[in-house]
Amino acid sequence: MNDLRRRWVAARSSATLRVWLLTGGLAGAAAILSVRLAGFGPLFATPRLPWWGLAAIFLLAEAFPVHLHFRSETHTLSLSELGVVLGLFLASPDALVCGMALGSGLALVLVRRQRPLKVAFNVAEFALSVGTAVLAFRATARLGDAHGPVGWLAAATGAVAFGLVSVLLVTLAISLAARENRLADLPRTLGLALVGSLASASLAIIAVELIEADPRAIWLLVLPVIFWGFAFRAYGEQRRRHEHLEFLYQTMRATQTAPEFRVSVRELLVAARQLLSADYAEIVLLGSTQEEGALHSVISGGSEKLLEASTPTLNTESAIRIAAERERAILLPRGGQRHDLTPFAAERGLKDALLVGLRREQRPAALLVVGNRVGEVSTFKDDDRELFETFAAHASVLLENDQVKDQLRYQAYHDALTGLPNRSLFTERVSEALARGSEDTSILFVDLDDFKTINDTLGHSAGDDLLAAVAERVRASVDTNALAARLGGDEFGILIGRDPDSEPQAEQTAARLVDALRVPFVLHGREVQVRASIGIAEQCSSGARSADDLLSKADVAMYNAKADGKQRYAVFEPRMHMRVRRRHELGMALEQALDRDEITVHYQPIISLADTRTVAFEALVRWRHPTRGLLLPGNFIPLAEEMHLMVRIGQTVLRQACAQVREWHRAYPAHGSLGITVNLSPAELQNPQLTREIEAILDQTQLPPDKLILEITESGAIADPASTLLTMHDLNRLGVRLALDDFGTGFSSLSHLRDFPIDMLKLAKPFVDRLERDQGDVTFTDAILRLAAALQLTVVAEGIERPEQARVLRDLECGLAQGYHFSRPMDAENAERHLVEAPARRVARIRAA
Ligand code: C2E
Ligand code: MG
Ligand code: MG
Repeated sequence: MNDLRRRWVAARSSATLRVWLLTGGLAGAAAILSVRLAGFGPLFATPRLPWWGLAAIFLLAEAFPVHLHFRSETHTLSLSELGVVLGLFLASPDALVCGMALGSGLALVLVRRQRPLKVAFNVAEFALSVGTAVLAFRATARLGDAHGPVGWLAAATGAVAFGLVSVLLVTLAISLAARENRLADLPRTLGLALVGSLASASLAIIAVELIEADPRAIWLLVLPVIFWGFAFRAYGEQRRRHEHLEFLYQTMRATQTAPEFRVSVRELLVAARQLLSADYAEIVLLGSTQEEGALHSVISGGSEKLLEASTPTLNTESAIRIAAERERAILLPRGGQRHDLTPFAAERGLKDALLVGLRREQRPAALLVVGNRVGEVSTFKDDDRELFETFAAHASVLLENDQVKDQLRYQAYHDALTGLPNRSLFTERVSEALARGSEDTSILFVDLDDFKTINDTLGHSAGDDLLAAVAERVRASVDTNALAARLGGDEFGILIGRDPDSEPQAEQTAARLVDALRVPFVLHGREVQVRASIGIAEQCSSGARSADDLLSKADVAMYNAKADGKQRYAVFEPRMHMRVRRRHELGMALEQALDRDEITVHYQPIISLADTRTVAFEALVRWRHPTRGLLLPGNFIPLAEEMHLMVRIGQTVLRQACAQVREWHRAYPAHGSLGITVNLSPAELQNPQLTREIEAILDQTQLPPDKLILEITESGAIADPASTLLTMHDLNRLGVRLALDDFGTGFSSLSHLRDFPIDMLKLAKPFVDRLERDQGDVTFTDAILRLAAALQLTVVAEGIERPEQARVLRDLECGLAQGYHFSRPMDAENAERHLVEAPARRVARIRAA
């Protein structure tokens, strides 16, 4: 703000400097010209017009100029040409220049109260223009007898020269001061000056001729001049009214036919600013009841806000009340006396203002304000007040349209896409609940975990459909007395006021919602799975004091739910703040980890149950954190997914793992058929470049494609089954093999075994764990193994920790296994040692048996 102000002041002072320089230049030029003209006497020897007589004429002409102001421009005309032409004929050039400088200078200082710079500029400009007029006049007069038509022509030339030079210099000064190009207006302004100069010149010529013939006859001119003066003012006034009315009519038409109320309101504000030459225009629309709050629209300088819901300040409230009580608009002129509404104007930085209140059924309905008058005429006057009242009367027709207002109010408080209440209404309701002192208020903050990916892969229209469908389920999951809202993007909020006698409902609602969202959505003919993380903040346990506070606590809880693995909810506890902070730090470090080569791969053997030979390794990512040591994927993968870093991490793992296995192939030809399995995250599966990137890696590392097995989880695959299927087929064409990881957890579906083009099935650890306990599970596993065999799938049992588990699986003729019982994941060096030494160990074990 300060910086802006400083820049503005600097810009202004540099503009001021430029105008001062121009003024100095003009004054210099005028002085040189005056010296040249000093030798000339008056053209006619008698009668002579003294310098003070001219000064009096110029004083009057500049003291009572005619303002033509309309929209944001003000044109000022004066009758100075009259004095100029009289002076050309009847005075010496020095008397003319002096009389003009003095008379007009006095008028500008004393009557029009212009600032010193403006006075200096105007006086210098007058002097130079009048000097030019003398030159033009004398040059033309030399052509013949100045007492006849040649003199008239000379006078016209002089007056026109004066008018045109004035206009040019003033345009130049305005362009320098305002730094805007006024050249486009120049032809129009020059035309006006030409006509004005000629008219004044004719009048002056008649006066000169009369004086020549009989000086007393000059009095005959006084009456017609006064009459024409009044007629001209009256005409100007009438024309101004006419133009205003026409403008009002056009504005109202434009606002009433505008497609949207927001556009109409904007038009109104723009029109009010133009009509009253104001920089600031504001409309406050009040609701029909106290609770409904107000809608604010303001245009000021280059900024605008339209129809924003907000609670009026105390000053605004009193302005609404005072304005509504008055019959007429309230005028606060610049530098006027203190008024009840002065604080209201000061709050908005207004130097002057006009306010008018609109009523409906005796209640205040709206407040219209314009302020900060711009242009030549320095502040608002009584006729502006009248104009503003007319404007307000027209505007009220539009603003009071009930239907539009209701619709508008609805739009301001509801989300267009889902029809749910929006953040404004939600926060307002939470504030109200807290204000009522309901100790048992709680809110749920719901965030969709995979929305961005879905939006990016399926397109925005599918994203919109999904949000609408999610909103529907949110609505269906909440009790009738709860309020569900869309807080923005993929965030939803639920406000629950607990019935003191019943169980807390927040957690029940959260659980219900998690369940409701578990069922896949069908979008554009595709099945899509979304997960949500929910944070709960309760007023009583969190100690939140305001709606924002409660919301931010629910947000923190939501982050914790996300960090714990998504598709779940968490209730806010103070220690969660700490966790969010640590997570933030970890996120920043993770971005750098990729560049610093801290992402590395460990290898866990996959062995053949029949002979405990290592047939492959699973590549498992690790982060060598500079201070926290070796981090497991569970500690950073959810974060990496959130930060959209999973694709880069996946590439690093793939490249390292493929290169490593290829190296082992070369070093130990006996292990030439060793395979490597690499996990693919859902984000990687949805990366359209995936196949091309894997092809490139295989190319670089020279690993035969059939030695690479990519592990896909079912939940990752069913987020978007159709596109996953396409990717899987592409990968198959490369010759790469696919495995379904963690089978037997979550939504395992036998149909996936048939539909996905996979070669391998990995039975999840929990599945294996149940084998020892329950004969039923053994039978079930047996069935799956047979099914897999029928579909020609290789099965790997994961998480084997005890010899007993290995034995049962071997009996069931499960082919491969992996687990701590055989080996933990190891770094590359130890994995290599394992590879070399394992045959010897196996021989030893067989011998011992
Ligand atoms: P996963 O693919 O199911 O990998 C097996 C996980 O089980 C590994 O955990 C492994 O260390 C662990 N494990 C193996 N045998 C046993 C056992 O006998 N008992 C127990 N309790 N655990 C065993 P890790 O390395 O922590 O990886 C966890 C998960 O992180 C992986 O599950 C995988 O889903 C994911 N992950 C690991 N590396 C990557 C990667 O490079 N990319 C992607 N997208 N995901 C990865
Ligand atoms: Mg795996
Ligand atoms: Mg697994």
